[in-house]
This record gives sequence, structure tokens and C-alpha cells, in this order.
Amino acid sequence: MSIEEITPKRQLVTTIRERCRVCYTCVRECPAKAIKIINGQAEVIAERCIGCGNCVKVCSQNAKVFRKEIDKVKELIGSGNKVAAIVAPSFPAEFAEIKNHRLLVSIIRELGFHYVAEVSFGADLVAGEYKKILQSKQLPPAISSDCPAIVKYIEYYHPNLVDSLATIVSPMVAMTRVMRKKYGSNLKVVFIGPCIAKKDESPEVDAALTYRELREMISQHGLKPADVIPTDFDPPMGGRGAIFPVSRGLLNTVGVKEDIFERNVIVAEGRSDFQEAIREFENGQISQEHLELLCCEGCIMGPGMSPYPFLSSLSRRFRKRASVSDYVIHKLEEMDMEQWEKDYELYSTIDLYCEFTRRDMRLDRPVSKEIEEVLNKMGKFGPQDHLDCGACGYESCEEHAIAIIRGLAEHEMCLPYTIEKLHNYIDELNISNEKLASAQEALRQSEKLAGMGQLSAGIAHELNNPLGIITMYSNILKDEAAPDDPIRNDLELIAEQAERCKKIVGGLLNFARKNQVNYEENDINRLMEHSISSVVLPENIKISLESNIMNPVIRLDFDQMTQVFTNLLKNAGEAMPEEGGTISIIMSDTDDNVTINIADTGSGIEEENHNKLFTPFFTTKPIGKGTGLGLPIIYGIVKMHKGKISFNSNADKSRGPTGTTFTIVLPRYGMS
Ligand code: ADP
Ligand code: MG
Repeated sequence: MSIEEITPKRQLVTTIRERCRVCYTCVRECPAKAIKIINGQAEVIAERCIGCGNCVKVCSQNAKVFRKEIDKVKELIGSGNKVAAIVAPSFPAEFAEIKNHRLLVSIIRELGFHYVAEVSFGADLVAGEYKKILQSKQLPPAISSDCPAIVKYIEYYHPNLVDSLATIVSPMVAMTRVMRKKYGSNLKVVFIGPCIAKKDESPEVDAALTYRELREMISQHGLKPADVIPTDFDPPMGGRGAIFPVSRGLLNTVGVKEDIFERNVIVAEGRSDFQEAIREFENGQISQEHLELLCCEGCIMGPGMSPYPFLSSLSRRFRKRASVSDYVIHKLEEMDMEQWEKDYELYSTIDLYCEFTRRDMRLDRPVSKEIEEVLNKMGKFGPQDHLDCGACGYESCEEHAIAIIRGLAEHEMCLPYTIEKLHNYIDELNISNEKLASAQEALRQSEKLAGMGQLSAGIAHELNNPLGIITMYSNILKDEAAPDDPIRNDLELIAEQAERCKKIVGGLLNFARKNQVNYEENDINRLMEHSISSVVLPENIKISLESNIMNPVIRLDFDQMTQVFTNLLKNAGEAMPEEGGTISIIMSDTDDNVTINIADTGSGIEEENHNKLFTPFFTTKPIGKGTGLGLPIIYGIVKMHKGKISFNSNADKSRGPTGTTFTIVLPRYGMS
């Protein structure tokens, strides 16, 4: 067993993670479904990869790279062994700029290769073997085995067809055997061509370089055609095999008219066509035909060719084809036919037989229920949801679901699913933003109140005593003054105003003190009745109470909450016009909350004042009447009960009846 066989399979194609932009084009283009998406990154699974290089060709970001063997080749050259380069017949398509191919041969020699020969002679030998199959009545129909990616595809994914593969080595291996026969069995052989699957095709070949790598080596050596003297390929020279790399190349090389074959030859090339042909062959629809299959559209379109970004792929294809044809026509004109026949004769004794193995890599199909579950998770519940849009890289939603189950794909690859998820995220984000904004507003309000609380506590404390003295002395002076003394009125005014100051100061102290809640179980109905009875309102103002309370028990601070309701009722009363109005109280409850609505038919609150309402000292009432502390105190008490206070108001008669409704929601169990 060679080292190649016992070491785990070396990765032929890898992803440069930073470059992968998750377009799933490689997933779509991979005929082997050997690309796995993990965390949004495309990775090639070495065991499943057939080396076709489609992913390398289609990746617009150049994120897929193949294993380079430049160092290995340099080592071979440096080791003192004789090393031969065998150049694939597609070279005129790659090196179109070097008109005289002998200059290219010399450049390759300059790199350190002892011999430079053409694979096309190997193709001539291989074609001879195919000719035998195609013209035979006895032999069963065969699938061509010269494309290593096709061979692997059949070994892995259509193992039942392995016996149909033509048991003939590829032109590369044939040429390697020719070279060793001619130049010695110790000769090291390096293949140079357009294919990356060749790197893993056969242990007989020491290394395989793509044209891209060859160009890299040439530029490392700074070699230019003008610097070398042209030399010809080393013998044996190839013949018609030089046409091998274009479509129908095998048939052209065989060089006999198709109608003398025992069966038709179906030529299929490119990712979809070769798969289709294999499927039909396996199903028995075309089982009597021979298949000439190529993974790329001719080897001239192989992934190891240099990209020509300035030409479209179609024009590239025909231009390349023309380059190869020109070379072949010229070659056949110049060729020493006699020598070729001698060589052909000499090397036709080489054994070109080979065998292939079944290496079944097919995956079991998951059960329908499992597939359905995955589809449901992506929001696909029926045929109408199966868009089969292909954005994920799979042909259908079902194929995608199967790949997810097999661990090859992710849900997020589904574009409609991901878009919907993003929409949901945006909605959620908007809601959180709104919540955040209202939390910020509440915070600002309570900070303001806390600041006010501290300030007012200080001022109130300082003012209370002097005010007491002013009240006391103005009263004493008033009492001492004669009843008709005009100063009596002035003193009365002083006492009255000082009393008013005391009231404000009292309110401030109250405001500052409201930072502790004395929770007790209370009856909300009783609390409301008590509050109503504590306010004195003019006769033309009616209060109606509607209690829909199912469970009146609630934990709260009775005194503080009484203050809340009496203040609200007072405000409502003060907002009423001369002719009076109605204050309607409606109470309801749930298991967790009690809601109190206090609605009045008063003047309403002007829109411009809505956001000032809970600010301390904001009042619209004349001096002597309002302090602007009622609502801030209410707000503080409700918040300390973990409750909510809000209001709705209309002050514009043209919009309907004016009035204000305050709503308070209190948690039933308070802070327990
Ligand atoms: P004050 O009653 O001392 O003015 P408040 O803090 O209790 O202070 O009220 C602030 C302001 O809010 C009032 O001056 C008034 O403009 C407005 N207001 C409060 N409740 C009502 C209501 N029910 N109808 C109309 N306006 C109201
Ligand atoms: Mg008030």
C-alpha cells in the first residue's frame, strides 16, 4: 500500500474563508454535491469531491483554490533525478500568445525538465484501444474513462456503472508509460495541463501542474520567449491525438467515420449534460450507445487554464478551439508519418488496461416526515410555499431540506426564509426601540422628580419656621389692632398670604416625603368612597361611581392613594365650567390588576401642555389657586406602587365634547 493510500485524502480544493461571500454559486455548480455550508462558509468535502474544478471556475471572488504542486515539482527537479514534463494537447489554447510552440518547449526545458514531450502520443495509443471497442460486435457499450472527474463521479455516485467504464488508461497515464519505456523506469514524470483532477488521478504520475502553475513558475524564473532558442518536443511525437482536448476529440482522434461503428456514440460534456447522459444510460434509455463524456466543455475549458477576464466564456471557448485546430492542422502537415507509425508500432505493446473500483458515496434519502419537518421550519407548509427559486444552490426546496438533514446546508440559505426572518427582527427591533424610548422618558421624569424632591425638602425645611413666625406675629398684631384701624386689613392679607406659603411648603414636604409605601390590604371600593367623600365640590358637579370590581382586595398605602384620588377629583372639579358637569369613575379588575378611570366633562388639557403635566410647579391656574404639585405627587405615588398613570384629553370643542380621562392601573399585590 502506498503512502497516498494510507494517509487521509488530501484536499484538492479549499476555500479562502475571507473571500467567500456566500452566494452559493459553488453549491449550485457542484455536480457531486460535495460542498458543505457551515456558518455561512462554503467548504469542499474532500471525500465527496470529484475534482472537476467547477467551483474554482465559477467563484467570482476567487475564494476557491486548488492544491498547487509547484514545490513538489521543484523538489523533484532538485533531487537529481531526470524529470520529464508531458504537456497536454490543449497547450495551444493556453499559450496562444506564443505563436511558435517550440519556444514554449524551450521555456519548459529552462525550468529544469530533462525531457519535454507531448501527451498527444499517449492519446494516439488510447484512441487505438477505443477504436477496438467502438468497432466490436462482442464488447458491451462503454463509457469513456479518459476524464478523471467523470471516472470519480461514476465510482462515487453511480457505482453500478463502474463496469461500463472503458478499461483503458487515460492519455496521461499512457504517455507516462511510454516515457518510462523510452527513457528509463526511474524517470520522474510531471503532467502539465488544464485539469486539476489529474493531480489525484494516478500514483504513476509524480506530479501534475496546471497551466496556471506553469505560468507562475515561468514568471518566477523570469523567462520570456525572446530569451530562448526554439527546440522541438522530445519523441515520440504525437499525431491526431493532439485534437483530443476539444469536444468530440476522442472520436476525431480515432479517425474513422462514425457510421462504421457498431453503435452510436453520444458525446456529452459540461456539468448538466454529462449527468443527464449518465442518468439516461443508467435508466436504460440509451444503454446501447457508447458515451464519450467530459466534465468540462472540452479539456480546453478546464479549471487549470488561465482565466481571460476580458473575453466572455463563449468567445473564449471558440477561440481556444481554433488555436488547437490550427496547431493540429499545421502539425499533421509537418508530421513525419513514417516515424509516427514506427513509434506507434513500437509502443502499442504497452499495456493500457486498467480497472476501476466502486466507491459508493451516495447518501441515504431521509424519510419524508423528516424532510417535511425541515421544510416547515423554513415556513414551507404546502406546495404553494415551494418556490424552488434555486437561490440556495439546490434545485428544489426539497433538495435543500434533504441537504440540511445531511448536514450539508443551513436553513439560512433559503432566501425567502431569511428575508422573512429579517423582517421579523426589524419589527422586534422597532418594538424594543419604542419600549426603550418610553423607558427613557420615564427615567427622565423620575430623575426630575427625585431632584425636585431633594431641593424642595431643603427649601421647605428652611421656610417652615420663619413662615410660622410671620403667621403668628401678623395674627397677634391683627388682634391687637383696633377694629377700625386700616392696618388690620393689611395684617390680614399678610397672615393670609403667609398661610398660603405654608400650604405650598406643606405640599413640598409632602412631595419629598413620598418615598415610602406603607402596604396594607385594602378594599378598593371603600377607598374610592372615602376619597369621594373627602372632596367638597359645588352642587352642580355630579360624581358617578361604577364599580365592576370582582375582587376588591388590593395591597396599597391607603393615605397615599386617597391623596391620589382626591387630587384627581379636585383637578376634575376645577376644570369644570361655571354650569358644572359630571365626573364619572369606572373601576374594573383582573386577577393581577385594578384599573381606575376618572373622566370629567371639563375644559380638557391643551395639547401643548400634555408633556408638562407631571412637571412640578406646572399650573394653568391663577396665583393663589394652583401650586402645580398635585400631579407630580400623584405620579410619584402611583410609580411607587408599581402602577401606571396615563390620560386622554380633548380641549378642542370642534373635535367633540371636551374633557379629560385619567387612567390608573395598580398591581393588585403591590410590591409584596
Ligand atoms: P394644580 O392643580 O395645582 O394646577 P396639578 O399638578 O394638579 O396642579 O395640575 C397641573 C395642571 O394640569 C393644572 O393646572 C391644569 O392645567 C391641568 N389639569 C390637571 N387635571 C386636569 C383636568 N382634569 N382637566 C383639565 N386640566 C387639568
Ligand atoms: Mg391640582
